[in-house]
Amino acid sequence: PAFPAGYPAHAVVDLEAIRDNVRALRGHAPSSALMAVVKADAYGHGLVPSARAALAGGATWLGVAQASEALALRAAGVGPQEARVLTWLHAPGVDFEALLAADVDVSVAAPWALDGVAAAARATGRTARVHLKVDTGLGRNGIVPADVPDAAARAAALQREGLVQVVGVWTHLAFADEPGHPTLDQQRAVFDDAVRTVEGAGVEVELRHAAASAATLTAPGLHYDLVRPGLAVFGLSPVPQAGPPSAYGLRPAMTLQARLATVKRVPAGHGVSYGHLYTTPQDTVLGVVPLGYGDGIPRHASGGSAGPGGPVHVGGQASAGIGATGAAGDGDADTGRVVRVAGRVCMDQVVLDLGPYATEGAGDVVTLFGSSDGLAHAAVVPSAEDWAQAAGTISYEIVTRLGARVPRVHV
Ligand code: PLP
Repeated sequence: PAFPAGYPAHAVVDLEAIRDNVRALRGHAPSSALMAVVKADAYGHGLVPSARAALAGGATWLGVAQASEALALRAAGVGPQEARVLTWLHAPGVDFEALLAADVDVSVAAPWALDGVAAAARATGRTARVHLKVDTGLGRNGIVPADVPDAAARAAALQREGLVQVVGVWTHLAFADEPGHPTLDQQRAVFDDAVRTVEGAGVEVELRHAAASAATLTAPGLHYDLVRPGLAVFGLSPVPQAGPPSAYGLRPAMTLQARLATVKRVPAGHGVSYGHLYTTPQDTVLGVVPLGYGDGIPRHASGGSAGPGGPVHVGGQASAGIGATGAAGDGDADTGRVVRVAGRVCMDQVVLDLGPYATEGAGDVVTLFGSSDGLAHAAVVPSAEDWAQAAGTISYEIVTRLGARVPRVHV
């Protein structure tokens, strides 16, 4: 697709990839319902289009962290018939009444929230659909096991009053990205115990859920009634050490591209960007990419003596933009090449050392990460995971932190 007018960069989001990834994930957990986690603007992919694509792939639930995100889905017309929505991270002051009015399920992770949803139920005349969150060992949000009996008894009492319906009991795992880690079984045992406690209080639990992407792909024993993948929906691997997305039948949905702003020849010994972290080792051609940390490009992906910078695909058929049909398998096809960020990542720009024989010019399209679709040879385009490695972080952060200046173009 063409770049939106006035923008030097765009993130192309392939909605069919999201749909197909959800289908693939359902195949990994065939006996469970699927909640697509679309918090944080669908990990940077765009909340509403991504949510709709996930529903088209067979998700029946959408998961978000904040009330505002749940309300945005409903305001966009994603109705309760189409998708149940669960929102799970609340602070006192949250408008539970608005959530109940929008028919959104609410997580309860602390006693104050149970009081809050009950008050909202009284005020609105609606029954609050709640999922009790248990801290089975992550040590983050959730009711600790010692407090579960009390929370269960109070929830059961509110259910008898018709104010609350305990739809689910749920938890989140600490080491799901390390398949076989001993805490997985420990958390499962604590979780099963918590479910028994809630049921013992007289509540029938419809949905137990624990698995995000990693456990959906690698721990069938933790699938329970519903799985809750986020990252994998967007075609990234939550356990990169265990395989690339393609190993799980997934493909990346986002491709980040920009037009080169400047291309210029410089002599050997030319210092590049703030602090001259990089000095050209030979006569070469530099290219300026109009994306920087203001757009979410991590400054830790700077390149210099301390290590190579983030990888960028230049030249070849990717220059035509994704979707350009390459001559797959044609040995003569120009596949382009991957070069590295040279010097510091700045707020608005990074510099590439394109090499002495570069033929690129200003306006040519470069691809920072994403899909290799349409290229002559697969895997030539770097992945968000490659950027994560260059920056010492995880692919989640690479896509999620992409800034507001980068238009998301949904195709
Ligand atoms: N469930 C909860 C409670 C989460 O916080 C998250 C995201 O961090 C997810 C599910 C989805 O996780 P992932 O992106 O690893 O699939």
